[in-house]
Amino acid sequence: MTKITVAKGDGIGPEIMNATLDIIMAAGARIDIEEIEVGEQLYLAGNTSGISKEAWATIRRNKILLKAPITTPQGGGYKSLNVSIRKFLGLYANVRPCISMHPFIATKHPEMDLVIIRENEEDLYAGIEHQQTDEVVQCLKLISRAGCEKIVRYAFEYARQYDRKKVTCFTKDNIMKQTDGLFHKVFDEIAAEYPDIQNEHWIVDIGAAKMADTPEVFDVIVTPNLYGDVLSDIAAQIAGSVGLAGSANVGGEYAMFEAIHGSAPAIAGQNIANPSGLLQAAIMMLNHIGQTAVAEKTQNAWLKTIEDGIHTFDVYKEGKSRQKVGTREFAEAVISNLGKAPATLKSVSYSKDTPLILPAYKRKAPKTKELMGVDVFVHWHGTNPDELAEVIRKKVETNVVRLNMITNRGIKVWPEGFEETYCTDHWRCRFKPVEGHTITKQDIISLLSNSEANKVDTIKTENLYAFDGKQAFSLGQGQ
Ligand code: NAD
Repeated sequence: MTKITVAKGDGIGPEIMNATLDIIMAAGARIDIEEIEVGEQLYLAGNTSGISKEAWATIRRNKILLKAPITTPQGGGYKSLNVSIRKFLGLYANVRPCISMHPFIATKHPEMDLVIIRENEEDLYAGIEHQQTDEVVQCLKLISRAGCEKIVRYAFEYARQYDRKKVTCFTKDNIMKQTDGLFHKVFDEIAAEYPDIQNEHWIVDIGAAKMADTPEVFDVIVTPNLYGDVLSDIAAQIAGSVGLAGSANVGGEYAMFEAIHGSAPAIAGQNIANPSGLLQAAIMMLNHIGQTAVAEKTQNAWLKTIEDGIHTFDVYKEGKSRQKVGTREFAEAVISNLGKAPATLKSVSYSKDTPLILPAYKRKAPKTKELMGVDVFVHWHGTNPDELAEVIRKKVETNVVRLNMITNRGIKVWPEGFEETYCTDHWRCRFKPVEGHTITKQDIISLLSNSEANKVDTIKTENLYAFDGKQAFSLGQGQ
C-alpha cells in the first residue's frame, strides 16, 4: 500500500479525478489516498500561492502527488502553484510520452511513439532577470553539472526501464558552448555508461524540424528546460492527442503527476470532460511506485476503449468513433475493459516491477580555479567604441590590468570593429593582465574604483576563469 496525496483541483478537475481514481482502484491499485485543497478557492481567499501550510505538509509527508488541473485567477500577484511545487520539491525531470493512437485518433504521424524528458529546474527558467541599462535587460541561463547529470541519467534509466532503444539529446551547443556545451558533454559521458542504448545528439533547431516532420525516428529525447518546454507541447499536439497526454514531474524524493491540459472551466460540472490525460498521469504514477502490473492492466484497458471507438466529445469523430460518452461512462467503459488488450493499437507490457531509482548525484572534487581576467559591463550612451576605449585606457585600466577588448551584445567592436555594427548602450569591457602578471580580486576592485572616480557607469562584472588550466569563458564574436 502506498500513501499518495490527491488534489482534485478546479473546473473539470474533480470529475476527471473521480473517474481516474475509480479506474485505477478497479484495476487493483494499492494506494491510500489523502486529499488536499489547492487552487482557486485558496487564491481567491487571499493565499497568493494557492496552497496552505497543511497541504504542503501532506505533500511532503506522502512524497507522491496526483494533481488535477487548477484555475489560476486572472490578474497579477498569483504565483503558479505548478512552478512552486516543481521547484520546492526538486522535481528535476518532466516526462511526457507523446504516442500516436492512429487510426483511432487523427494524426499526421501514425508511427509516432516518443517520450520527451525535459530538465525542469534550471536553464533560463531560474528566473534571474535584470534590467541593466536603458536599452538592455538580461536573463541568466544557469546550467549545472548536477542538473545535467541527473536529467541525462534519468533519460537513460527511463529508456532501460521501458525498453526504449535510443536516447537523443537536443542542445544548441554550437552557439552556447559553455551552457549547452556542458549539457552535451555530460550527455556523452553518461551515454558511454549505457552501451545497450543508442545515443545521438542533434542541434535543437534542425532536431526540432526533424521531430515535427518525422517524429517516428525519435524514441527518447532529453533536452534543457526551454527547448523541452516548447518541444513537448509540439510533440503532444502532433501526436494528435494534446487532450490525452499526461506528464510526470519527478525528483530524487518526490514526484507529481498531472494531465497537461488545464481546468477547462467552460465545460466543468457537465460530465463531458475527457479523463484520459489525468488517467495517463495516474498510470505513470503507478509505474513510478512500482505497481507496474496495475499500470499495464489500466493502460491496456484504456487503449482498448479508445480502439472500441468509445470517445468523449473532444475526440469523437462521426464515422470513426462508435459512441459518444460522458466522463463517468468513459470510466465505466475502461473499467469493463480491465483485463482485455487492444487488437490494433500496440498493447503495453511494463516488464520491470521495480520503481526507477537513480543513484544520488555525487559532487566531483573541486578543480583548480585560476582568475584570467574580468569583464566589466558599462552603461554608456555614446556610439563610437573608440571613444569609450580611450576613456577606459586613460582612466580605468591599471599598470598590470589592461583593456583587451570591447564588445556590444557579444560582438567585438574594439579594437578593429566594423562601423556598421549597431551598438546599444550596454558595453562589455574585457580586461586581462599584462604579460608576466596575474590578476587578483584586488585588481578588479581597482578597476571599479577608477571607473567610479571617473564617472564610468559600471553595471556588473564577470570574472574570467580557467578550471584545471582550461579556459572557461567565451571569446567575443569576431575575436
Ligand atoms: P485548458 O487546457 O483548460 O482548455 C483548453 C481547451 O481544451 C478548452 O477548450 C477546454 O474545454 C479543452 N479541454 C481541456 N481539457 C479537456 C478535457 N479533459 N476534456 C475535454 N476538453 C478539454 O486551457 P485554458 O483554457 O488555457 O486554461 C484554463 C485554466 O486552466 C486557466 O486558469 C489556467 O491557468 C489553468 N491551467 C492549469 C494547468 C495545471 O493546473 N496544470 C495547466 C494549464 C492551464
